[in-house]
Amino acid sequence: MRSIDELRMLQALPLELKVAKTKLRIREWVNEFGVEGVYVAFSGGKDSTVLLHIVRELYPDVEAVFVNTGLEYPEIQRFVKTFDNVTIIRPKMRFDEVIKKYGYPIIGKNQAETVWQARNAIGRGVYAQRLKRLGISTKQASNMGLKLPPQEMLDRYEKSTNGSKFMMDKYAPLLNTDFKISALCCNVMKKAPSHEYARKTGKNVILATMASESMSRESAWLKHGCNAFDSHYPSSQPMSFWTEQDILKYIKQNNIPIASVYGDIVYAENDEQQRMFDDAAERLKTTGCSRTGCIFCGFGCHLEKQPTRFQRLKETHPRQYEYCIGGGEFNEDGIWQPNKQGLGMGYVFDQMNKIYGEDFIKYK
Ligand code: SF4
Repeated sequence: MRSIDELRMLQALPLELKVAKTKLRIREWVNEFGVEGVYVAFSGGKDSTVLLHIVRELYPDVEAVFVNTGLEYPEIQRFVKTFDNVTIIRPKMRFDEVIKKYGYPIIGKNQAETVWQARNAIGRGVYAQRLKRLGISTKQASNMGLKLPPQEMLDRYEKSTNGSKFMMDKYAPLLNTDFKISALCCNVMKKAPSHEYARKTGKNVILATMASESMSRESAWLKHGCNAFDSHYPSSQPMSFWTEQDILKYIKQNNIPIASVYGDIVYAENDEQQRMFDDAAERLKTTGCSRTGCIFCGFGCHLEKQPTRFQRLKETHPRQYEYCIGGGEFNEDGIWQPNKQGLGMGYVFDQMNKIYGEDFIKYK
């Protein structure tokens, strides 16, 4: 069984050793499934660009697969097209359709999922625990028309979550907003097309995800390690123990091209954020975007220092900013949603700021 100490030890290794270990994991994966039986999930971002570089150094003919969600920076789309042997797949729904059906991706995945499920619980007698996580009392839940689980189960649940980081009472006001929030966007836009591709082709994915990116990725590594042969959707994540600094260092050392939206990679001294993984005096950063991904995604935007991703988007891609922030209308049920003019996220952010303070989401 892997431990957090083991992960920290791997994360502290010098880059050269990490590259060697990553190559080892990739070889194991290809030995199991063959070159024709694997592909690299290529988003056009710097992490998967590094992964593709390492994989193709070992196996030049490995396919790359790009999910074109329509939410990537135009520079990323152009960059992806500069590579050979890239298969482009698409989700079944557009982003605006996903929002209309499920809601806006804001706050974080866990919080959005809890609010979504709790809102759906009201009147249906399911997911009562989700309401409890939002700090809704048994009496309040009952007044909402919920058929609650037995008291004993609720007591046990309350005991296990009291004071826990999983309690989210801060987000209870989102049960009553005139817009929906949900975490299902990633499932529809990214996971579903990828899983469908893997199922249709019988190929097994290699991903550039890193444990340092989130708690859930760290947990996944503790459970499966880098090569999840035994998972429901087998996947290789051979860079799990890399950090953001490793990625930047690898790009600089190997002089590999990355999408122009990142700008240049330069030294920045005393960056506190990465200190826990690397105490080198000189640190690297990008002069443009630090992360790419979906340009309209609201997940985590309330945590960003200024300029936030939306403030930067306003400067760098004004047309996309207008579409994202502008537009929107109420549907016949009085729920705010995108329309032809735009996604209407400005209205959503304003409502969030009314609840949590005017600087909660900085987007202007
Ligand atoms: S990252 Fe955000 S916008 Fe992109 S698919 Fe996931 S939830 Fe949707």
